Amino acid sequence: MTAPRIEVDLGKIRHNTRYLVERLASRGITVTGVTKAVCGYPAIASAMLEGGAIGLADARITNVARMRKAGITCPISMIRTPLPSQADQVVQSCETSYNTEMDVIAKLAAIARRNNTVHNIILMVEMGDMREGIMPDDLIGFASQVVRMRGVALKGIGTNFACLGNIAPHSEVMASFSSRADDVERACGRVLETVSGGGSANLPWALGFGKTGRINNLRLGEAILLGVDPVSGKPVDGLHTDAFTLVAEVIEAKRKAKPMPLQAVDPAFSVLRLAQDDHRKTRSILAVGLQDTDVAGLTFPLGVKLIGATSDHTVVGTTNSSLRVGSQMKLKANYSALMRAMNAPDVEKVLFGRRDLSAGIPAKHIHPNLALV
Ligand SMILES: *Cc1c(COP(=O)(O)O)cnc(C)c1O
Repeated sequence: MTAPRIEVDLGKIRHNTRYLVERLASRGITVTGVTKAVCGYPAIASAMLEGGAIGLADARITNVARMRKAGITCPISMIRTPLPSQADQVVQSCETSYNTEMDVIAKLAAIARRNNTVHNIILMVEMGDMREGIMPDDLIGFASQVVRMRGVALKGIGTNFACLGNIAPHSEVMASFSSRADDVERACGRVLETVSGGGSANLPWALGFGKTGRINNLRLGEAILLGVDPVSGKPVDGLHTDAFTLVAEVIEAKRKAKPMPLQAVDPAFSVLRLAQDDHRKTRSILAVGLQDTDVAGLTFPLGVKLIGATSDHTVVGTTNSSLRVGSQMKLKANYSALMRAMNAPDVEKVLFGRRDLSAGIPAKHIHPNLALV
């Protein structure tokens, strides 16, 4: 098989989803599968649905379009506040979007009215991550306006943690968010169907023993795909951490003594130098680089050390075993490395554990005239 490639074990993604779905169900929480790190790759999205996710969410309309084109008809939410220039596509391909700006909501509403449809709005509340969100004090005013607007329906509220700030949500902040749901309902006289508490960073809280309050949904990407908690980087019990394997090919293997001292390189020149190189060791070059992945986010096999990477080359040092030219090396990718590799045209995607479609996806999620690719 050619390299670089990323091997995807769909069975492990199904397992991770099912495990989280079942454990969270006992806490009254549903799972929305987040597909942005895999660019909405349809077979991976389907594996999340097969594992019991109630719907999917993505941050980019191109990824949503890709899933729709592949015949996925389940509810898909736009989790990044819609770009005004893409509002038409958002109304057409997403049932729901997460919003923080009234102008955008008004635009979505106008488009929905023109299309004789109703678009669902989840209001994103700022609870401390300081990325997107309406300030808590402005929430009631916002919600009241949305409720009065034709073309949109207030479906719920959401919040987000550990995206910009690397802080895990604790029970106090979650209780405070939960009480916002009650406040909005009291003020607007509407029941909020969805109270979405965050992403994978919320798992320690959600799987703990504290009260979950009104929170009834999490949007999970990293935990399903990589089996880790994004805040600590530690594996989540019961989850596979090896659903993805990046495979790279060795194109040079030599013992190299440094012929002359290297000159300092302009840092603007995209060179990633992590370790002091040691000329006594064997050096090998892998045909994968910064264009293909986030090399700093790769884990190398035992005895292999990353020396540096450029756009197309990754140089590794090995202590004793010398790698043969043409041999292939398995690498583990973190979230950032995975995201880049999934988005890289030169990295082939190889899927294992594909289900027979008719057996795999609930019938309501399959479009009869379209094939999954
Ligand atoms: C990316 C994202 C998620 C999923 O985060 P994970 O840490 O991958 O679970 C959830 N919500 C929003 C708004 C996101 O942008």
